[in-house]
Amino acid sequence: QSQELSQAHIDYHVALQALQEHGTRMVCTGKMHTDRVCRFDYLCYCSEAEEFVFFHSNSSVMLPNLGSRRFQPALLDLSSVEDHNTQYFNFLELPAAALKFMPKPVFVPDVTLILNRFNPDNLMHVFHDDLIPAFYTMKQYSDLDDEARLVFMEGWSEGPHFDLYRLLSSKQPLLKEQLRNFGKLMCFTKSYVGLSKMTTWYQYGFVQPQGPKANMLVSGNEIRQFARALMEKMNITRVEEVYKDGGSAEHEKERKDDYVVVFSRSATRLILNEAELIMALAQEFQMRVVTVSLEEQSFPGIVQVISGASVLVSMHGAQLITSLFLPRGAAVVELFPFAVNPEQYTPYKTLATLPGMDLHYISWRNTQEENTITHPDRPWEQGGIVHLEKEEQERILASKDVPRHLCCRNPEWLFRIYQDTLVDIPSFLETLKEGMKTKPSVKKSKPASTVHPGRVREPQCQTSVQTTNEAKLTVSWQIPWNLKYLKVREVKYEVWIQEQGENTYMPYILPQQNYTFSENIKPFTTYLVWVRCIFNKSLLGPFADVLMCRT
Ligand code: UDP
Repeated sequence: QSQELSQAHIDYHVALQALQEHGTRMVCTGKMHTDRVCRFDYLCYCSEAEEFVFFHSNSSVMLPNLGSRRFQPALLDLSSVEDHNTQYFNFLELPAAALKFMPKPVFVPDVTLILNRFNPDNLMHVFHDDLIPAFYTMKQYSDLDDEARLVFMEGWSEGPHFDLYRLLSSKQPLLKEQLRNFGKLMCFTKSYVGLSKMTTWYQYGFVQPQGPKANMLVSGNEIRQFARALMEKMNITRVEEVYKDGGSAEHEKERKDDYVVVFSRSATRLILNEAELIMALAQEFQMRVVTVSLEEQSFPGIVQVISGASVLVSMHGAQLITSLFLPRGAAVVELFPFAVNPEQYTPYKTLATLPGMDLHYISWRNTQEENTITHPDRPWEQGGIVHLEKEEQERILASKDVPRHLCCRNPEWLFRIYQDTLVDIPSFLETLKEGMKTKPSVKKSKPASTVHPGRVREPQCQTSVQTTNEAKLTVSWQIPWNLKYLKVREVKYEVWIQEQGENTYMPYILPQQNYTFSENIKPFTTYLVWVRCIFNKSLLGPFADVLMCRT
């Protein structure tokens, strides 16, 4: 991967003239700074000032033109973490005429994606905040292809996982600190600024305690497509694929190479009796058990192993993000130290249970205080508490449950999450057996099972008055257009009937395409009727246009 910007591809004088005449042009998507990505022609960066610069000329464009609302609080989020005040993007403005007095610009010919990595030291953050969002931002804008240049503006050095970022394009990503090597004024011929947040599933607890994002927009399908693309780049072939063809029950049994993976950590949050745990797992599943750790294996090596595993067992921690490489139908078993409630820390549970991810999730929690090893003397960021007042230390030591808290420096949380754990084998196996009982078979989840019904067609109503207080309402409709091309296990229809002017309605679920209602139907009354189709109990279609039915 080359780091030089080949100036040969562009005619310098043409570029300079274009910049001077046309200035910068910006067109963005998104109504708010939190959902905005902007595309620029000739966005420049002044390394001396450490600022991006927008050059105004007669033909520059700035859409949205926010005026000074551009600073309230920013034009956009440069990382995928929503509205984080250290991750804002903005630019300075200058008239294009000022270029005459400025250092000669260096032009970047590559289509460039400019972003902040959020926490490049932590593997979970690398995937969730950076790699997946960058991958899908690049899918959104087709000129961000394999030749695209990525520029990371958060100001960190490469970090331990830089090889993963290199997989996003064939060009070496640039760091903020490297930009000054290209000169005082750098101008990006074509660039995109910001990341799509569409794929993120977790919020880290900056404004409310951490948890799944309120409005998730990603499904397992997109995560798996990303995983597959990344594996291709790493030259990994899924062992599983070999067996996938027939998928018959016999075939399943033939697979002798089912195995369990224990993802171990060697520095902090240890499993103290790993050997015993491995023996118990081998016994329980009648499978071989392999261990992996970030300290011992290469990342592609780990992915290779995980991509063929039936079960992944690990302490809560960033390494569990590798569960996105598990084959469909595999189980994730997450262990939590003493006093940490699994329900409150669910980045990996949320991932595993995304619709279509098809992973089975089980958590186990150490409930026996004698089986935990605490580290009060460590530095605060590894959960030490000796720097706290005596009273506060005593309160933390006496507490058996970390109360809900905000990110990121809650000492009680850090103290508890950095404990080492002696896993109580009987309780662990009990949780495992209980959890495995509800494991669904993968076969149920065919892609077709995510197809939603279309609207029902030609909905109609007919009415008749029987007596002064009895009436009938017949509603009929045709099947949705897409149904004739589908094999659907169960097709049902839902009808809502509301008397005009009332604010409640009566819902009915029906198997057939017409029905005559007579209960609760009054003469000389107008009813509003909605009809929709439902596949397999849960896949709801849209309502057809409302019917006005007068008895
Ligand atoms: N890490 C590791 N082994 C260890 C401790 C940490 O591989 O014994 C990795 C971990 O997976 C993460 C990074 O180091 O990528 C930071 O770990 P930390 O405990 O700070 O974060 P967490 O795992 O709680 O997200």
